Parts: sequence; structure tokens; C-alpha cells
Amino acid sequence: MFDSLTERLNKTLKDLRGQGRLTEDNIRDTLREVRMALLEADVALPVVKDFIEHVRSRALGEEVSTSLTPGQALIKIVREELVRLMGDDGEGLNLNTRPPAVILMAGLQGSGKTTSTGKLARWLQEREKKSVMVVSTDIYRPAAIDQLETVAEKAGAAFHPSSSDQDPADIAAGALQAARTGHKDVLIIDTAGRLHVDEGMMDEVRRLHEVAEPVETLFVVDSMTGQDAANTARAFADALPLTGVVLTKTDGDARGGAALSVRHTTGRPIKFLGTGEKDDALEPFHPDRIAQRILG
Ligand code: GDP
Repeated sequence: MFDSLTERLNKTLKDLRGQGRLTEDNIRDTLREVRMALLEADVALPVVKDFIEHVRSRALGEEVSTSLTPGQALIKIVREELVRLMGDDGEGLNLNTRPPAVILMAGLQGSGKTTSTGKLARWLQEREKKSVMVVSTDIYRPAAIDQLETVAEKAGAAFHPSSSDQDPADIAAGALQAARTGHKDVLIIDTAGRLHVDEGMMDEVRRLHEVAEPVETLFVVDSMTGQDAANTARAFADALPLTGVVLTKTDGDARGGAALSVRHTTGRPIKFLGTGEKDDALEPFHPDRIAQRILG
């Protein structure tokens, strides 16, 4: 991720590092380049505008003019504003509730929901020492239920069976009961996806949300769709109280526009990155580390 953005920003900012003085012209030219680099990375326009405005107003302020190394000071501002754009400290999962803590996974078909459900189950079991149960409410694709069973087995998580003749809300209620009885810490509910956002799909997810009362409702979205990922996430966030986003397939996304747009566009934090097809290819999202990666 961010290959070309990193290259472009480095080229632009490299010249600044040694600068003893920055003029308004220097700053304007630099910001123009940064703006182009972000647009090429497929960051949404309103996000770019807001970002550049923040950097500009800080760059023209005292922080830079009184610094002994103005070039460095400007780079520091770019770094800090990148972190702010992605949500400051980053927010991990909030599982502080009476167990089982329910995590609802929503998203379009093919976005990586089932894969991410398995990865998350494994991460919670191995890293956080939680006992996890997973369930699929995708009654439209029996193959999806089988896929989750395989994924759960590999992750060492309990699997609550379901079948295509059941009602999704009944499946969720049954799984919740089973997770309670089995003293599970966490229940992850994988849901059906469609190719596009539609009302039927939203109604179903809303019903699942009512029944399962999740502490985390995560929207899973393919980062390769760039700023569209952020727009799809916003459509979901408007319809459902999302608590965060899982950004998948970042290993195939050279540009990084989604990672930089999601927070600003949806108001929700990215919580995890999917970084490959394997079941351990999941990273908690840390804006400061990502900003570091972008600026090389
Ligand atoms: P769902 O329809 O949303 O449940 O999507 P799946 O979990 O079935 O994933 C769709 C495809 O994306 C599968 O081929 C996955 O292996 C692939 N996939 C999911 N997450 C990632 C990721 O982070 N990186 C890569 N490279 N592939 C992924």
C-alpha cells in the first residue's frame, strides 16, 4: 500500500528537509504537489481539500516560521495531519461488555467478510486469549456457511451451525444463546452480502443488529475500490450504527486512497487491515504507524 504516494511525497518533501527558510511560495508549491499526490492515490476530493487546508494554516503559522529547521517543521505537520486524518491514536476493539461480546460483520459480497471473520477469530483467540464462536447468517449461499466452518476450524474457534431454511435473525438468536451457554467471550456473526447496497440487505442487517445487540458492528470493505470504499462505507454508516471498518486486500492496493478517506468520509475508524489471503494476515490499524509508512 502507498507505494506511489510514498514515492511522490518523498520526492516533494526531500527538498524541504535542509531548507533554512521557507517562503509562502515554497509552501504553496509543496502543498500543490502533496495535493496531486493524494489525488493520484485516489483519496476523496473533500478529504484532500480539508487535509491541505489544515496543513496550510499550520504551515503559515508560527510553528514553521520560528523553527530552526522550517523544512522539518513542515514535514512534521504533514505527518501529524496524516495521523489526525486517519483517527489519531487508533481505536482497538471495544469488547467491554458482559460476555459474549457480539461482533457483527457487514459488507458487500466478495469484500472479504468471511475471510476476515476467520482472521479476527484467530487473532482474538491467539492474541487476546478470548474464546470465540462464529456463525454465518448467509442463508442465500450455503457455500458461505461451509466456508465459515472451514475457516473456524482452522482458527480453532467454535462454529455454530446454520442452514439455508432458517431465518437470519433466528440463527443469530440461537447462536447468542449457544455462546452464552458455552461461556464464550466473543460471538462473531458473519452476514450475507450483496453485490450492491440495497434496501432488502439493509433491512436484514438492521434486524440482525436489533436481535444480536453487537458491541462492535464492523463494515468490511475492499481497499482496492479506493475512494468508492469510503463511499460504500458511508452508505452503511448512514443505515446502521457502525463502530468501525475492516479494510481488506491492502496487499493488492498500491494506492491507499481508501485508508486515507474512510475516517473522514464516514466518521468511523478503521480498526483492522486485511493484508493477505492467509488466515493470519490481519493487522490492527495504527494511524501513526501508517503515517510513518507513508512518509517512509
Ligand atoms: P465475502 O463474500 O465478503 O465473505 O468474501 P470472502 O471472505 O469470501 O473473500 C473474497 C475473496 O477475497 C477471497 O478469495 C479471499 O481470499 C479474498 N480476500 C479476503 N481478504 C483478503 C486480503 O486481505 N487480501 C487478499 N489478497 N485477499 C483477500
